[in-house]
Amino acid sequence: MIEPRKVGLIGDPVEHSVSPAMHNAAFQALRLPYVFEKVRVTEEDLPKFFQKMRGENWLGVNVTIPHKEVVRKFMDRMDDAATKMGSINTVQNKDGTLIGTNTDGAGFLQSLQSDAHWTPNAKRAAVLGAGGSARAISYTLCQEKIAHITIINRTFDKANAVATMIRNNFGKEMVSVTSPTSEGAKDALQKADLIVNCTSIGMHPKTNELPITPGIHFKPGQLVTDIIFNPQVTALLTQAKKDGAQAFGGIGMLVYQGALSFELFTGQKPPVDVMRKAARAELQNN
Ligand code: NAP
Repeated sequence: MIEPRKVGLIGDPVEHSVSPAMHNAAFQALRLPYVFEKVRVTEEDLPKFFQKMRGENWLGVNVTIPHKEVVRKFMDRMDDAATKMGSINTVQNKDGTLIGTNTDGAGFLQSLQSDAHWTPNAKRAAVLGAGGSARAISYTLCQEKIAHITIINRTFDKANAVATMIRNNFGKEMVSVTSPTSEGAKDALQKADLIVNCTSIGMHPKTNELPITPGIHFKPGQLVTDIIFNPQVTALLTQAKKDGAQAFGGIGMLVYQGALSFELFTGQKPPVDVMRKAARAELQNN
């Protein structure tokens, strides 16, 4: 019997991922001979994993926390956007050549358009976090002609590195940086049309935690999004709704970034509705 080719998710942790359910449902719907596995890989084990991946039956992998930036050094090639944004969530294995790309920003944008009918052009954004997903989302918002982004992050150096990436690619007036507890953060959150939580604060199991200082409130006309999808409604989204802002969570981005990666892995049009249904069902079971 021919072994099915493998697609996977690497990260640490990966236990609660819904990607296997989402991709395996899509493989079955299109009768593709592939199987999606999640693999916990620590940072020390990354060299060994990629060495093995080149020689084995792998079509590709998605990359999740905390490896989206560090995996760049194992790629043979990266596409232009992934190179500029400095973050990878998809690795294709083409006959032993590893190619890095990033579907997070495009997935987020599709979710903004379909879940909220929202376009970034000439608006202001506050991005909470400065990790791999914050890089991809900030880059994509700038490409879509957002007027200004404030990066709000605990570790100032990381926030500054994201700001440098934006300045180098889109101009120095586009971005400012502040810490979550500063007056600058309060001001930026009040002035923003779009607030995006790209930190892992509020993610299962610490679902009561907020990525903003308690006492800060939102207002009608603002759109608050949390890219966390477990839980589907985070403490941040609950507060935003209470304050009268529009709010939605990370499941749309999860499905669209997954669908874009699926197309890169398989060369087939993804069955997006099948993937959404499988992701929702898996989250109910989690
Ligand atoms: P990452 O690269 O590890 O970055 C994590 C960010 O969260 C950093 O800015 C980090 O701040 C901040 N953070 C973590 N714990 C914190 C704490 N206790 N206090 C203050 N800041 C904290 O992760 P990522 O890949 O960008 O992912 C971030 C989140 O997005 C995760 O929950 C992930 O599941 C979710 N995500 C969802 C989708 C989707 O499709 N919906 C896609 C990608 C990611 P420091 O810089 O100070 O460490």
